Amino acid sequence: MNILFAAAEAAPFIKVGGLGDVAGTLPRYLKDRGHDVRIVLPRYGAIDRDRFGLSAMPGPLGVPMGTSGTLWCEILEGRLPGTDIPVYFLERRDLFDRPGVYDDPSGKGYGDNAFRFLFLSRGALETARRLSFPPRVIHVHDWHTAAVPLYLDALYRGDPLLARSATVLTIHNLEHQGIFPRELMDVLGTGRHYFHTGDLEFYNEVNLLKSGIIHGDAVSTVSPTYAREMTTPAFGCRLDGVIRTYAPDLTGILNGVDYGEWKPEKDPWIFQPYGSDDLSGKGKNKADLQTALGLPVAEGIPVVGMVTRLVHQKGMDVVASVIHRLLDLGIQMVLLGSGESWAHDFFSAVASERPDRFACRLGYDPVLAHRIIAGSDLFLMPSRFEPCGLTQMFALRYGTLPVVRAVGGLNDTVENFDAATGAGTGFKFYDLTGDAVVNTLSWALPVFRESPETLTALRKRAMSRRFSWEDTAGQYELLYRRAAEKRDA
Ligand code: ADP
Repeated sequence: MNILFAAAEAAPFIKVGGLGDVAGTLPRYLKDRGHDVRIVLPRYGAIDRDRFGLSAMPGPLGVPMGTSGTLWCEILEGRLPGTDIPVYFLERRDLFDRPGVYDDPSGKGYGDNAFRFLFLSRGALETARRLSFPPRVIHVHDWHTAAVPLYLDALYRGDPLLARSATVLTIHNLEHQGIFPRELMDVLGTGRHYFHTGDLEFYNEVNLLKSGIIHGDAVSTVSPTYAREMTTPAFGCRLDGVIRTYAPDLTGILNGVDYGEWKPEKDPWIFQPYGSDDLSGKGKNKADLQTALGLPVAEGIPVVGMVTRLVHQKGMDVVASVIHRLLDLGIQMVLLGSGESWAHDFFSAVASERPDRFACRLGYDPVLAHRIIAGSDLFLMPSRFEPCGLTQMFALRYGTLPVVRAVGGLNDTVENFDAATGAGTGFKFYDLTGDAVVNTLSWALPVFRESPETLTALRKRAMSRRFSWEDTAGQYELLYRRAAEKRDA
């Protein structure tokens, strides 16, 4: 199949979150399955032309932007590193040569984000035409490129190159929908008749994600449980009704893990490599982690790790509300993260008050992330919602048992401990309350203190679980075929 990816991020060129991982990794595995995959991205200022060997294609590309007229750009061509997958960068410095991808340095979204990403969306279709590349499937991601299916239906079906192209929309996080004032219809250039409840009108504004859900031939998200949750008012961010109506067969496909990077047997960053056949190395990592963070070195004290963005989504407010009750369970807690300033202040203060029980490092530190995941006994993730989540999958691979709220990908990747049979790979709770977090840890701790054999069995089982990109790519391939069949029907 010819497959065109249109995305606002793709690692390693540019990555803000999970979307960047998927758009930079999935194409590699699709290519291995024999598909002709190509990617269209903006050329952000942070993407270095020389480092990635980008070269300009001949001739400018015109991108019609409704009443703003046709905007011209260059196309820079490169390759996804380590592959021969072509990547086309739309070069328009006034739109993309900025310090941030979505936000300015103060954290505020750029005022012209709608314009920037409509330019990318329409530019991706114009790029396919320029290349004479007829995509069987166009895979778009989140609101930034969610207008592509609408553009196709409204403006491009007469072009033989794009007449049969099916569209797949993957939603990585339903919270971000691309909602803008209705005047955006002028720039969109599809005609005002698309502005109605059955299309992209949303409480009298434009909702680009909604248009993608309605016009996409297939819609997916990044875990089966999140797919179900999205159809409920509690998790649906006001689009649950739209999803129930227009995307009843919404599919959840878990992201894969890069087990080249996350491999305790050969992890250059941890203190002592180890495998499931010899867990003594894990104890060494624990002692070294305690030393590195200034905690008392004690094998018998369970260490609970967290590596996370310190934001509302991750339930950090709930952890904060019971932090002293948690520490009074006789554990040590280790937190690495950055995010909201209240959390920085609060957790730093707890670290000063209880230095024997709580260690906190603020910032982004991939080496320490590996060390915490290797050296902790338990890994806590009390997320409000979690489309997929990666860190719990890393923790499993390192035999660090996840304690998670049973939402989204956390529910799909962690198997709950069953005291009667010893089955499971972690500990789950359902309500997002301080009591639930405290009670679940209280339930997990006796396994550490009193049942070493059960603990070893749980760890070995956790370490055997795999979430591979090969599987993920196979599932996307099926989804592409379904979308293509639907388009042809
Ligand atoms: P999300 O994308 O919602 O932040 P995920 O669990 O899907 O959550 O992915 C988070 C990724 O970011 C993981 O690779 C995790 O190790 C990493 N990460 C998060 N915070 C930090 C940090 N402070 N330092 C290093 N790595 C971090």
